[in-house]
Amino acid sequence: MSGKLYVVATPIGNLEDITLRALRILGEVDIVYCEDTREGKKLLSHFDIHKPLDSFHARSSLSKIEKIVEDLKMGKNLAVISDAGTPAVSDPGFVLISEVRRSLPEAEIYAVPGPSALTAAISIAGMATNTFVFYGFLPHKKGRETILKEIMANNKASVFYESSHRILKTLQSLAVLLEPTRRIAIARELTKIYEELKRGSAKDLLDYYTNNQDKVRGEFVVIVSGAD
Ligand code: SAM
Repeated sequence: MSGKLYVVATPIGNLEDITLRALRILGEVDIVYCEDTREGKKLLSHFDIHKPLDSFHARSSLSKIEKIVEDLKMGKNLAVISDAGTPAVSDPGFVLISEVRRSLPEAEIYAVPGPSALTAAISIAGMATNTFVFYGFLPHKKGRETILKEIMANNKASVFYESSHRILKTLQSLAVLLEPTRRIAIARELTKIYEELKRGSAKDLLDYYTNNQDKVRGEFVVIVSGAD
C-alpha cells in the first residue's frame, strides 16, 4: 500500500498559528519535504519535532519528484511544507501534487489547512471579497501592463502578493490607472509584530508609503476593490 502525502500549511509569521493537526502530522510522517530545509528545521525544532528533512522547491528536478513518488510507493508517509503559509499558493507544490496524482493515483493526498497570507488579508480588509481574482505575484515585465489593466476593469476584487522592492512602483501604476474612488487595502507583515492594514485610494497609499519609508519593509498583500 502506498504512503500518504500531507500538504501542510505553516505559519506566515506568528508560530502560534500552527494547527494542532499540522503538529501531529509533522510529528508522525517519515519525511518532511521542505521548500528550504533550513527554514523547515527551524520550524520543526521550535516544536521539538525531529524528523528527516529533504528539500522540494520550485527548481527541484524531475528526479526529485520521482524520488518522492518512490518514497510513497514504498509506503512512506510524507509531508510537504513551504517556507510559510499554504504550499501551492504562490509556492511550490502544484507540479509535485499533479505528478503524484498522475503517476500514483492510488496515493492518498491530504490537505492540512492553516495559514495563508491570502485568506488572512481578505479576512481583515473589510472589502467585498465574496468573489475575487487572485493573481499571485504580478509579472515584473511581460504581461504586467495587461494584468494591471485587467485589474482596472475587473468588477470583482483583485488580490495579489507584493514585495517591499516593488510596492511603490505598483502603487504608482495603480494611481495612474485607477479611478480615485477605487479602494485599496494593503496588509503588511500579517501576524507579525509590525502587522498593519492600510486602506485608501492608490494615491493615498502611495503618499503614505512614500512618506513612511520605514513601512516599505516586509511582506505585502494588496487588495483592489472591484470596479462599480
Ligand atoms: N504560500 C504562501 C501563503 O499561503 O501565504 C505565500 C508564499 S509567497 C512566496 C510569499 C508572499 O506572500 C510574500 O511575498 C507576501 O506577498 C505574502 N506574504 C507571506 N507572508 C505574509 C505576511 N506575513 N504578511 C503579508 N504578506 C505575506
